[in-house]
Amino acid sequence: MDLYEYQGKQYFARYGIPTSPGGVADTVDEAVARADAAGYPVVVKAQVKVGGRGKAGGIKLAEDADEVRQHAGAILGMDIKGHLVHRVWVEHASDIAEEYYASFTLDRPEKNYLGMLSAEGGVEIEEVAATNPGAIALIHLDPAGGLDLEAARRWVDDAGLDEAARDEAAGVLVSLYRCYDDGDCDLAEINPLILTTDGRVHALDAKVTLDDNARFRHPEWDEFAATETDDPREQMAKEKGLNYIGLSGDVGIIANGAGLAMSTCDVVNQVGGSPANFLDIGGGANADVMSAALEVINADPSVRSIFVNIFGGITRVDEVAKGVIEALGRVDLRSPIVLRLDGTNAEEGRALLLPHLSDRLVAEPTMLEAARRAVSLAAAAGERGASVGGERA
Ligand code: GDP
Ligand code: MN
Repeated sequence: MDLYEYQGKQYFARYGIPTSPGGVADTVDEAVARADAAGYPVVVKAQVKVGGRGKAGGIKLAEDADEVRQHAGAILGMDIKGHLVHRVWVEHASDIAEEYYASFTLDRPEKNYLGMLSAEGGVEIEEVAATNPGAIALIHLDPAGGLDLEAARRWVDDAGLDEAARDEAAGVLVSLYRCYDDGDCDLAEINPLILTTDGRVHALDAKVTLDDNARFRHPEWDEFAATETDDPREQMAKEKGLNYIGLSGDVGIIANGAGLAMSTCDVVNQVGGSPANFLDIGGGANADVMSAALEVINADPSVRSIFVNIFGGITRVDEVAKGVIEALGRVDLRSPIVLRLDGTNAEEGRALLLPHLSDRLVAEPTMLEAARRAVSLAAAAGERGASVGGERA
């Protein structure tokens, strides 16, 4: 689960990582109140889970309440790389002397933690890695050993951070390590970590990805999960326990297994269509799961056809077929379904479905043919919609 910057900073605060005083706001008036409390000048920052907000105009300095009003008004409702801004973070502005980069993540091939520290912060680390890889000091850490202050100081020297930042930066790194390790993060990144003109070191930005596998021992993450998505389709899918990602096309997709679901999206694209979603129903393709999946897809007004792509392995196709038939009795679908069923007990499954087939429930023998059929059905529905004057927004 990815956190917003303001949530990342809340998480940092638990581990003693210093940040600037500030608060969140959903309205212009609230933004002014937060700015008054933080003390001027302030920065008004768009809260979206995507980088490069500064360049996109989503981060503005404000000297007084009037400027906060102006900037918050412009940023709230702004679209940053497809992410709508519902909320801003307003914090006391810092006087920056230097911008650094610091992060911890998992190094899978090395089977341990990887710390990255650079004196060249404030820009995307990928850019530094591409143009000046020597400017990133890497450290590999054994989870059993951790990071102590001594090692952190050597690391800071290695990265060539300014002398004035040395002690405080080492302290922040130890805290960031604790946040990453004890806090069960997949990624804990500060970019930029700054040295202020008066010699203090603190986090100006926060990028935190929590490890969902550790959710069971963090009841306090519930508040983060509640704001995880602003896509109502994803919210609904989450409530039903489905592995769903909303996309912008018109072919609804249901598949068993993440790999097959991705391939299904690819095939739909390949034949000139556009997936409305990614949905992996996993191994449990019974009537309950199938109904839940169809309900979520049915609630998406963009969907014009539904492609159900099941390859039976441990999941038996006849069980899936029963699930589909039962689900069809429960959900009143707006769009036609194209089924591709293959794998274990495929013959039995197809036989069960045979009496239910119609122009609303079509079976195709291969993934490619099924994709073509689903795409042409979606296109036909689109033309019908247009001819009655109903082009969708
Ligand atoms: P990102 O673009 O989404 O990564 O957003 P950041 O929070 O990293 O901010 C981008 C840039 O805005 C930083 O690298 C700074 O240069 C600038 N910035 C952010 N906060 C402040 C601040 O308090 N004072 C000043 N002077 N610049 C800031
Ligand atoms: Mn940043």
